[in-house]
Amino acid sequence: MIDRIQQLPVLGEVWQTTLGWQPNKKQQEQFQKLYEEIIIGNRQFNLTRITEPREFWEKHLWDSLAGLSGLEIANELEAGQPLYVIDIGTGAGFPGIPIAIALPFWTVTLLDSTRKKMFFLSGLIAKLDLKNIQTLIGRAEEIGQNPLHRQAYDLALLRAVGEATVCAEYALPLLKIGGLAILYRGHWDRKDNLSLQFAAEKLGGKIERVTEFVTPLSQSIRHCIYLRKMSPTPEQFPRAVGIPVQKPL
Ligand code: SAM
Repeated sequence: MIDRIQQLPVLGEVWQTTLGWQPNKKQQEQFQKLYEEIIIGNRQFNLTRITEPREFWEKHLWDSLAGLSGLEIANELEAGQPLYVIDIGTGAGFPGIPIAIALPFWTVTLLDSTRKKMFFLSGLIAKLDLKNIQTLIGRAEEIGQNPLHRQAYDLALLRAVGEATVCAEYALPLLKIGGLAILYRGHWDRKDNLSLQFAAEKLGGKIERVTEFVTPLSQSIRHCIYLRKMSPTPEQFPRAVGIPVQKPL
């Protein structure tokens, strides 16, 4: 079955010119294996609609790592600084798995409430022999009130999880003071910025930066919003399961 799965493009030059980093041979093999396992898993678990190799490269691999470009991924690699990262609403493992492959000395927790996706991800992590990833099944609202996880992470990642204000309520309680949440968004405008700023302040955070970038193959516009945690999040946040979505801040 694996014979029919195509090869991902390598595009080392594109990685280098856009993000100042490119995968080594082992990482490229891990990306290929990740692709193969997702294509196979898709038959059973309905993981992603993005299956064409170049589109997978751009929308799942490149996009996941583009969110870190503001952190100067190459410098982080050199510094070897270990960080605790949580990918909230990881789905099929994005952006968390490509980041764990690129930065093997970071510890990445993949969080999702969908048990069957997490079952798939546990098998995938074992097959890829990724020692720096753990999986966590649960709702962000509950994990954020769990003392084992509250204020325990340096970096929180959220892609395609919901409204930005909802993402802020999920992410900020989980961050250490000084930690950073990265919200991966498509469209972003002044109105989005104002409502997120309002919510972030209630949660002990602030918008540090908004980065617009153009994807290298299809030339689409994407945004990453960087929220810095400035002070402890008040105890009442995150609110009970479902409330952040029903009554956004
Ligand atoms: N981040 C992935 C990506 O970009 O491909 C998956 C996005 S998928 C559209 C959204 C995921 O968020 C789903 O798998 C869903 O189960 C998860 N999710 C939504 N709300 C959640 C919550 N409150 N706690 C945990 N997971 C949640």
